[in-house]
Amino acid sequence: MAPVATAPGGGDTTGATIELDNLTKRYPGNPSPAVENVTMEVRAGETIILVGPSGCGKSTTLRMINRLIEPTSGRITINGEDVTHIDPVKLRRQVGYAIQSSGLFPHMTVAQNIAQVPRMIGWSKKRIASRVEEMLDLVGLDAGEFHGRYPRQLSGGQQQRVGVARALAADPPVLLMDEPFGAVDPITRDHLQDELIRLQHELHKTIVFVTHDFDEAIKLGDRIAVLRERSHIAQFDTPEAILTNPADDFVSGFVGAGAALKRLNLTRVRDVEVRTYPTVGVDDPLQDIFDQLRSGRTNEILMLDKRRRPYKWLRRGDLMRAKGSLARAGTLVHDTVTRDATLRDALEAVLTDNAGRVAVTGRRGEYTGVVDMETLMNSVQELLEADRLEALEHQHELAEQRQHQRELAQEGASREAGA
Ligand code: ADP
Repeated sequence: MAPVATAPGGGDTTGATIELDNLTKRYPGNPSPAVENVTMEVRAGETIILVGPSGCGKSTTLRMINRLIEPTSGRITINGEDVTHIDPVKLRRQVGYAIQSSGLFPHMTVAQNIAQVPRMIGWSKKRIASRVEEMLDLVGLDAGEFHGRYPRQLSGGQQQRVGVARALAADPPVLLMDEPFGAVDPITRDHLQDELIRLQHELHKTIVFVTHDFDEAIKLGDRIAVLRERSHIAQFDTPEAILTNPADDFVSGFVGAGAALKRLNLTRVRDVEVRTYPTVGVDDPLQDIFDQLRSGRTNEILMLDKRRRPYKWLRRGDLMRAKGSLARAGTLVHDTVTRDATLRDALEAVLTDNAGRVAVTGRRGEYTGVVDMETLMNSVQELLEADRLEALEHQHELAEQRQHQRELAQEGASREAGA
């Protein structure tokens, strides 16, 4: 996303560039670095996602940007300025930070939490008060209702919203987010992700966002850095490029072997859960057909011919206009897919059907169900999730094998030394 001169809603500060140059972090007592020689450029106004397995160094990398962790070596600059030379108070002003479980101070009200950084950097009371209100409004919370509440009086999703409001309060050009939606239920997470996209559309901050969830990365990222151990960058590219052209086995394993489109080719309609539509026969009395339509969840039913093959789609409006005979009512079924068709074929049929659904037929052309966009999306998501789990399990097994081999080698070496 390109930075703009002013951002409505949140303030005037748009994103800043961030450069990581050969960044390394060694924790005391650990011989191998947690982060090793990471070099990366983030453009102003971009949302960058750091994604990778647990323990690969994502949080450590993120926290070096706002100096919650001091690098062992290497350099970080924000808009060309070395962060180690930036006064800590100024750095708070430049870099907002939001974490999992919101990180709010429990003994402070929502308003006090949001006001924290503006107060620290010396804003006037009046300016802070109006900013708090503006921020609550920005994250979709009613200022009058939430202003004086304590964090424990909020739901997980509301706490997370306040966490984002607090991170943005001093209008920093950079926003760091460490698994901010990791602790909320999937539906709330989905909403919060949508809100972040909306916010970023207005604000054009530079966002660096850490997650281990590749779907979240795809949804939110302008670019995604897939990290392996020690934050080594396996691939740093747009979601589309990573999905369609993963750099290596590690990335494709993490993405889920072959990504969405490829996955569609590998799965048959019979392997996924299709929808059931209410059906009627050509000879059914009109009243029965009305009753079926009224009782169904869809506003459409499928009329089958005498051999139970899909014949016509009938909508409520068609029946209203039918005036006693259905001979001319409805839309003839002109395309069906078999249970053996690939999901890709089904997608093709759904996309070219003007109502976005297609009937599925068995071996003799008989009706067995309906595939629509929702069926396809749900199926693909489930398949990709299963792929990802399998890939992670595979990596885990490989790591264990390697460890076992190392132990055997060490045993051998010490036996030789003893001999
Ligand atoms: P991620 O965010 O990808 O899960 P982290 O950055 O938290 O990974 O951790 C990277 C590695 O550094 C891990 O092996 C972790 O055990 C280690 N580590 C993290 N924090 C500390 C610490 N304070 N002291 C020692 N080792 C740490």
